[in-house]
Parts: sequence; C-alpha cells; structure tokens
Amino acid sequence: TVYLDHHATTPLDERVLAAMRPWLTTECGNASSAHRLGSSAAAAVESARIAVAALLGAHDPDEIVFTSGATESNQLAIVGVALKARQLRGARHVLTTAVEHKSVFSAMEYLVEHHGFTSSIVPVDRAGRVDPATIAAAVTTETAVLSTMVANNEIGTIQPVRHIADSVRDSGVALHADATQAMGGIAVSVDDLGVDLLSLSGHKIYGPTGVGALYARRGVPMAALLPGGGQQRGLRGGTFNVAGIVGMGEACRILTATREEESIRTAGLRDRLQSALIEMLPDAEVNGDQENRLPNNLSLSVPGLVAASLMASLPDVIFATTSACSSGGESHVLQAIGQRAEPGTLRLSVGRHTTVDDVDYAARELVSAIRAATGSVMRDVH
Ligand code: PMP
Repeated sequence: TVYLDHHATTPLDERVLAAMRPWLTTECGNASSAHRLGSSAAAAVESARIAVAALLGAHDPDEIVFTSGATESNQLAIVGVALKARQLRGARHVLTTAVEHKSVFSAMEYLVEHHGFTSSIVPVDRAGRVDPATIAAAVTTETAVLSTMVANNEIGTIQPVRHIADSVRDSGVALHADATQAMGGIAVSVDDLGVDLLSLSGHKIYGPTGVGALYARRGVPMAALLPGGGQQRGLRGGTFNVAGIVGMGEACRILTATREEESIRTAGLRDRLQSALIEMLPDAEVNGDQENRLPNNLSLSVPGLVAASLMASLPDVIFATTSACSSGGESHVLQAIGQRAEPGTLRLSVGRHTTVDDVDYAARELVSAIRAATGSVMRDVH
C-alpha cells in the first residue's frame, strides 16, 4: 500500500513513540501533583513546551498553550480573543479568507450565532491566494480577529501572511494564523510571519493525534474557553496529557532538525509524481499556486473523472478527493478558486516515509485507473 494522504494525518514517528512510551506506562504522575512523579511529569511538559517554542521561534515557552489539536487551537484563538476584545473595546467583527479549514469558519459562526458578532470572508484568486490589500480593506475598527491559514490543506497554497501582517499592523486587530498544514513543509516563525496567534497539530507532524498547540503572543488579551483547574496560565485547564504533549515536543524537535532537508526531498518526490501524471494525462490541471505551494502537495483535477469512484477501484493507493473533513461533500476551496472539474480532483500528499518506488507505483496505477475510468465515462456519453 502506498500512503499519499499526509494532509489528512501522518503516521506516528517511531522516535516519537519511544519518547512517549514511559509517560504512558511507568511515569504515571499527574503533572500538577506535588510528589516526585508529578514533578517529573511537569518537567517533561515544560521541556516539550520549550521544543514547540523553539520550532516556532517564540521567545517565551509560556506563549505556548497545549490543546487537544488544531480545531481547539483555532477555537481558542478566535473565540478567546474575540470575546476579550468585545469586553475591552466593543469589538464585534471577525474576518477570514474563503479557503480556511472548517474549524475556523465554525469558530466564527459560533461568535455570530451566540455572541452577536458579524463576520466577513475575503475571496482568493485562481491560485488560492488572498490579496493583502483586499483583506486589509475589510478590517474595521470593530474587527477583533483576522484569521488566515499559512498553507492550505487541499491545494497547498501558501498565503502571504507577512504581507497581510504588515498591511494590518496599525489597525489593532489580532492576527491568527492556522499553520497546521504548513509546519511540516515550510519554515514557520511567529516573528517572521508577524502573527499574534498560531495553531498547530500533533498528528500532521508525525506526532500523536489529540494534541496540538496554540502560540499566543504575550500581551494579547484573551479569554479562556476551558479554564478548568487553572493550568497553562489559566488559558486552558484540564489534567495535562503528558504522553501526548511529550510526543508533540519530540515531533517538533525532529522537525527542527530535519525539516529543511526533508522539504527538498518531498518536493522532489511530488514533482516526480506530478510530471508522471501530467505527461500521461494531458487534460489534467494542477491546482494551487505553482510557486507558493507546500512541497508535499499535489492537487490534480481531471475533467470527466469521478475521483470518489477511482478511490474504490484503487485500494492500494491511498489518496483523498478533497479534505478528510469535507469528504462526501463539496470542496469550498475548489469552489473558491473556480475549479469546475471538482468531482475529478485528487489530493495526493507525500511524506517522511514515501519513497521513489512508492510514487512511481502510484503514478502507474493512477494513470491506468484514470484512463479506464474516463474512457468509460466517454463511452457512456456517446
Ligand atoms: N486546520 C487545518 C488547515 C487542517 O488541515 C486541520 C486538519 N484537517 C485542522 C485545522 C484541524 O486539526 P485537528 O485535526 O488537529 O483538530
């Protein structure tokens, strides 16, 4: 089986599993307990916090809040900051782009439905990029949060986050970036991007599922959504998921050490896959921004194809049609970029364990299955 769905989730790295194992078995203390096992668990959590901060270039590890994943990080960033901004300065508006992950839209809808906010969604161009001037023009004195992804989970397009940050700098709006997909592929530094808040997730970077982090710059006023027992500066309570957090820290350490080299390798594999497919399928169109794209992403639309049926006929090649979250539904991302061959879209994403043989095998299998499928569509039509 060739796994080409790293955007949906990545396999746990063996080194991460090894780092987690003691915290799932012998080292069983609650990180908030006063005894010896409690303090060693607390030290492990703090060491992981330092590793996440280092990967992001955050100056203070206390700017990292551990969560249950990027869905929660996005919710905490958007709702937590918006509710505080309303209390402090009467803010009532939130703003985002048309290609965000559903968890960003849901957080904004929650504010609209339950807290009387209004929201705006800024369109993107054919490549999926948002124009910094357009988004800056949509910011008003009432805007609490502007949320933009760093890189898209379907088409891999990288947003000009730094330019967006520069263009809204004087407005007082808090800038949140969802870097869930970007972390594994490109350098992500909170200072270089100029963001106040940034979300990431363990299971997209070869760490465990069910753990994530939010970078929250010091001094950005924010309400807690789950204050619980007051853990993590009161921003996110609950008994620490020590093993998960240790795994997240180890995943970040590995990324810090290997990301640059790995991005070159995965881009090579992706390019090889793309060339093989394009050569044999001349009607196919590559989605996303060809210059500003994640190194492991290939989104391909083939007119006349129904990618969902292709999946069933090719059980040995694991790929996605759109995103896992919108499976079965329509892709708002492909609609936002005006891709009309949406049902014929394949999302292929390579990763840390993908080999040249894997992509060559997948290309051969995909080409013959797509030719057979589109051939039969043609016969039906005639
Ligand atoms: N944002 C983006 C861009 C994503 O791709 C995902 C995962 N599909 C999420 C947020 C949600 O992450 P999690 O699964 O950790 O909640």
